[in-house]
Amino acid sequence: SFSKIGFIGLGNMGKPMVQNLMKKGHKVSVYDVKEECVTDLAKAGATGCSSVAEAVDGSDAVITMLPANKHVLETYTRKGGILESVKKGAFLIDSSTVDPSVSQTLAPLAKEKGATYLDGPVSGGTIGAEAGTLTFMIGGEETDMTKVEPLLLCMGSRVVYCGKHGMGLVAKIANNMLLGISMLGVAEAMNLGIKLGMDPKTLMGILNTSTGRCWSSEMYNPVPGMIPTVPSSNNYKGGFGVALIAKDLGIAQNVAIQSGAPIPMGSQAHQLYKIMELKNLGDKDLAVAYQYLQKQSS
Ligand code: NAD
Repeated sequence: SFSKIGFIGLGNMGKPMVQNLMKKGHKVSVYDVKEECVTDLAKAGATGCSSVAEAVDGSDAVITMLPANKHVLETYTRKGGILESVKKGAFLIDSSTVDPSVSQTLAPLAKEKGATYLDGPVSGGTIGAEAGTLTFMIGGEETDMTKVEPLLLCMGSRVVYCGKHGMGLVAKIANNMLLGISMLGVAEAMNLGIKLGMDPKTLMGILNTSTGRCWSSEMYNPVPGMIPTVPSSNNYKGGFGVALIAKDLGIAQNVAIQSGAPIPMGSQAHQLYKIMELKNLGDKDLAVAYQYLQKQSS
């Protein structure tokens, strides 16, 4: 049973995940380097902690939702970090989108402490985190996944076993690489058609009933005014930031080098989002790629 849960990283994703755990009656001890994130959730009923050790001490499960590789590695391995205070028999689930090697490094260190590590990145974004409909992609032992599944289902609607340690992250990175590429493809196609004089709505309709159809064209079209409820129709605010997709494509780049798998489109996409990030578009939704291409057009 999970009578105490530690949660570290209370940002856009972590905060609603904690709220959903509490809604299902769980006691959650929370920590973030930003104090206001802690006090915010403490007001909502969580136990606010002023250190990682305090959140981890005595917890049956510890979930981390941190920005990138170095934050996860540090939070686990530094003095006063998770591995120092984790109790025997506890489950450690990292839901951050990081390099698969992070999981492969931390899993054996957790085992030495008598704890069980799983990589469990999520898809569904902040909307899914709020609604409690995330999909967890799990890497580690399948029998261990089964034990934490009820806990994860407080925050998500699907838990999928992907393979040994790191494979949850491989699945996540492959998906995000494809999203990064497909968004650029749709932005390029829409911009081309519009520049040639095509009505954007008619063009979108054609794409969405033809072979170019994909999530980026149909559910998340990057041209403002095509779909009223998505970030492209709200000055690219919220959604999935350019800096985050650039980070994920950077991970794809690293693992592609290690594996020998060529990712020419993924590499190109990585460079394009990096350039957009350098042009101060890092906080904008990734669909801003359309506006970026439009502005480069003559
Ligand atoms: P975020 O930046 O909003 O939140 C991260 C939080 O971690 C921040 O509150 C930050 O203060 C905290 N933090 C940083 N270093 C810390 C440390 N050493 N100790 C404690 N807290 C620390 O990011 P997010 O959008 O919540 O994303 C978290 C992870 O989930 C990322 O890896 C991201 O790629 C992934 N992800 C995000 C989305 C999304 O739509 N936002 C969707 C799926 C996956």
